[in-house]
Amino acid sequence: MTKPIRGRFAPSPSGRMHLGNLFAALLAWLDVRSLGGEMLLRMEDLDPDRCKPEYTLQLADDLRWLGLDWDLGWQEGLDQYTQSHRTEFYAETFRKLEAEGLVYPCYCSRKELLAASAPHASDGFRVYSGRCRTLTTAEKNALEQGGRRPAWRIAVPGEKIEFVDGNFGPQSEILDRDCGDFILRRSDGVYAYQLAVTADDGAMGVNRVVRGWDLLSSTPRQIWLMEKMGYEVPTYCHTPLLCSPDGRRLSKRDRDLDIGVLRQRYTPEELTGLLACTAGIIDRPEPVKAYDLVKEFSWAKVGTQDREPIIQL
Ligand code: GLU
Ligand code: ZN
Repeated sequence: MTKPIRGRFAPSPSGRMHLGNLFAALLAWLDVRSLGGEMLLRMEDLDPDRCKPEYTLQLADDLRWLGLDWDLGWQEGLDQYTQSHRTEFYAETFRKLEAEGLVYPCYCSRKELLAASAPHASDGFRVYSGRCRTLTTAEKNALEQGGRRPAWRIAVPGEKIEFVDGNFGPQSEILDRDCGDFILRRSDGVYAYQLAVTADDGAMGVNRVVRGWDLLSSTPRQIWLMEKMGYEVPTYCHTPLLCSPDGRRLSKRDRDLDIGVLRQRYTPEELTGLLACTAGIIDRPEPVKAYDLVKEFSWAKVGTQDREPIIQL
């Protein structure tokens, strides 16, 4: 018997959701529902500078308001699907990778990082040179005594990672050339997104990941980490990223398009219709319930839409 599909919402409660978050959430939900799978909700609140507990409740409420439900994962009063409560699990995962001899401290300051990395021609992403990989114990001690606190990186091999994205098609990356040694733990002790997301997707049995294409370039290193950790690698589907009516990519700063304002202006069905039409799932922006879209959904309709479709509000 094949395993049931398990997808997930993995929002970061660093503010209220905006239209772009809702767009990606709707597509993730439609994908899983159209496959007859189950949906999990996990709160990715690892960054203590940005995330606040009150946003967590609001997030769940906003998803429900739009008609997006989930079968397992986060619920009020249950901490095990909230990343800030899972640090012991990340620490254990980190120790296992450390035991393989792959993790090393990086003492580079912001300025040194600029000097020790080369920007990628295509997207400006900087590949770290591995400058701190070969520091001697004496050099490390001297840096620590000078007050430097290291971040922790994992050394990646020159391995080619290939996968077929369910929406963007075949992808490939050579880890050391295109990604470089990446951070597992920040210098303030916070475990990095790449570590937490892969450990959690693995441990929570997620086998289907749908999210915005801004994370497409993180996928090869996540696949590699999941294989390292011994987890089954999910299939991935990346969505276009919604742009505001004036053509800008949406961000948390776009207060005008945050869901608090949208909830006053639209019914859930109206907003769902607008999002679904922009996604290419229906032809006209007519009010519709999320569940009534399940039979209409296909990735062929969504496509990549030049990556950045514009919503007309
Ligand atoms: N928590 C991440 C975000 O809100 C998404 C993580 C993921 O989908 O892999 O941007
Ligand atoms: Zn370094």
